Amino acid sequence: MSGIATTCAYCGVGCGIVATPGINRSVAIAGDDAHPANHGRLCIKGTTLGDTVGLQGRMTHPMIGNRTAGWDEATRFVARTFADTIAEHGPDSVAFYVSGQLLTEDYYAANKLMKGFIGSGNIDTNSRLCMASAVAAHNRAFGEDYVPVGYEDLETADLILLVGSNTAWCHPVVWQRIEAARRDHSTKVVVIDPRRTETAQEADLHVAVAPDGDIPLFRALLADMKRRGEVDEAFMAQHCVTPDGFWDGLVGAPGEALPTNFEALADMVAAHPRMITVFSMGSNQSVRGTDKGNAIINLHLATGRIGKPGAGPFSITGQPNAMGGREVGGLASTLACHLGFSDEERAAVADFWAAPNLCTAPGLKAVDMFRAVDDGRIKAIWIMATNPAVSMPDAGFVRGALEKCPFVVVSDCMADTDTTRLAHVRLPAMGWGEKDGTVTNSERVISRQRGFLPPAGEARADWRIIADVAAAMGYGDAFDWSGPAAVFREYAAMTALAQRRGLKLDLTDHARLSDVEYDALQPFRWGEGKLLADGFCFPDRKARLIDVAPLVAKPADPAFPLRLNTGRYRDQWHTMTRTGLSARLSRHRSEPLVEVHPDDAVRYGITNGGLAQIDTPRGNTVLRASVTDAQVPGTIFAPMHWTDLFASGGRANRLTSPDVDPVSGQPGFKDCGAAIAPV
Ligand code: SF4
Repeated sequence: MSGIATTCAYCGVGCGIVATPGINRSVAIAGDDAHPANHGRLCIKGTTLGDTVGLQGRMTHPMIGNRTAGWDEATRFVARTFADTIAEHGPDSVAFYVSGQLLTEDYYAANKLMKGFIGSGNIDTNSRLCMASAVAAHNRAFGEDYVPVGYEDLETADLILLVGSNTAWCHPVVWQRIEAARRDHSTKVVVIDPRRTETAQEADLHVAVAPDGDIPLFRALLADMKRRGEVDEAFMAQHCVTPDGFWDGLVGAPGEALPTNFEALADMVAAHPRMITVFSMGSNQSVRGTDKGNAIINLHLATGRIGKPGAGPFSITGQPNAMGGREVGGLASTLACHLGFSDEERAAVADFWAAPNLCTAPGLKAVDMFRAVDDGRIKAIWIMATNPAVSMPDAGFVRGALEKCPFVVVSDCMADTDTTRLAHVRLPAMGWGEKDGTVTNSERVISRQRGFLPPAGEARADWRIIADVAAAMGYGDAFDWSGPAAVFREYAAMTALAQRRGLKLDLTDHARLSDVEYDALQPFRWGEGKLLADGFCFPDRKARLIDVAPLVAKPADPAFPLRLNTGRYRDQWHTMTRTGLSARLSRHRSEPLVEVHPDDAVRYGITNGGLAQIDTPRGNTVLRASVTDAQVPGTIFAPMHWTDLFASGGRANRLTSPDVDPVSGQPGFKDCGAAIAPV
């Protein structure tokens, strides 16, 4: 078999890959020169994908309890238990918790079943943990979850601000493109981050804000641009709605501190109108995440730095298909295809799906969903392609909730994860290299993932598993798809509903693709067009500046004087169920380290290389310490990847706070009170 064009399994950069299968499931991996996301580049995670496609650790047969079951029996059992639960307790007694690892076709099937046929909004996704605040900020500012920038803009910008993003580690190919722009175009790079990350070390300027300090920073930047005469009044008059008292509201709150190099940053911003602000988890994973997104967007709108080449706010996503999930409606806060829950929108969706039980309201967002599992409101949950017992904040609580849930179904490609251990039914899903469908990357490019390996054992495509359960529940006609192409055509046709409401999500040109054309589908970006000529997505086609309140300092808890931040390592992915299979990837960091500033190390008796116990109100863990002045005094950092299945333990997100942003429901992983002591 010659090379197959597909897309990387990991981050939201969405790099194109040419995979050439060999014998015994071996596969040679190369970057796809023709893909617009990477033009042939790959990072080490993508390069080593071939290390992860063997059968080691795979779930290969449906399991009911500890016994192997056939697909028919397992499917009927899941369908009957969900149907009985709904009949006895109502549709909101069940839930789906899905994943940015799913393909768009899988997401579409799950969303249709839950919201249209079961009749509950209770489907949410682990993308809630990743970029829900950016979604909410886009909706508030633009009237739609629309990303107004593409990667090629990074190569024409004069200044790139990276906010809460260790791009060099977490989106390495985006970083390679930025480095190329610095070489070829003398682009300046500023990193705004509490940590002196590997990205910050390479930047022209590192602005070390306190946790959540980007709120006062962007408010002050906008006030400073106004003072310098850099606000584009003509642009604002033509394209924006500004709330009364907006400019007066930018006066800082008492005690709001700005970094010492604020003036240097402001000088750079004033001097470079072609400016992109990339924001990622460090901005989104905050109890003020939506406000942070809007503070960034406000700066771009007020200075007219949007809708032009090399300018705009750019949310980059963590997962390979976080965007695809957003588009079809996989967040509990969206109905489908960027539509909401108004009577008109519900009527259009009900008609399109011929849905017998369309849900009436948004469902529970991730953190609230697991609270409802814990207190018994949700009695049956189906978890697809994700490991919430490790990845959710306060993950010990989530594990406890699942332990007492009457019915837990997990569909996954891996057999033994912290979450599959809690399942009553386990359903084997196809993995990367086996499954077929589409993904959408951070810049709205839709690409094909293509299967080139036989499925592991009896593993099936997620969309098919969902469709079979739907059929067993009596909804077969609406889920009778011949393959992923048929699912995609239905989704593409449905985007006509968004188009009729003046939204930019429009795939209707792809609603009649033949199976052959779908197989040959080339990457394309939806919503192309002249943003400013077409206008934003509110009925008046104007964007909204949003009042962002000053930062109110949290009262310190003397028992937990430090602020814990969790995040990623360069060479691991999420809970390591797949990257943990690659010895090459483990060479970079073989164990999780807690990073501590030297002043704090002295204060708390921590030694470099020694063991340290981290305590928070939710529990503790022991990690080896790395004493480094890359950390701001008063803060510590731990990676989120390790699970209790590893001998070294280190399940960091069991320590993190479940407090969420009130608008987006995204948890504030980046800032919770903690204490540290030597072991
Ligand atoms: Fe894969 Fe992301 Fe690396 Fe590209 S940058 S190869 S999408 S992990």
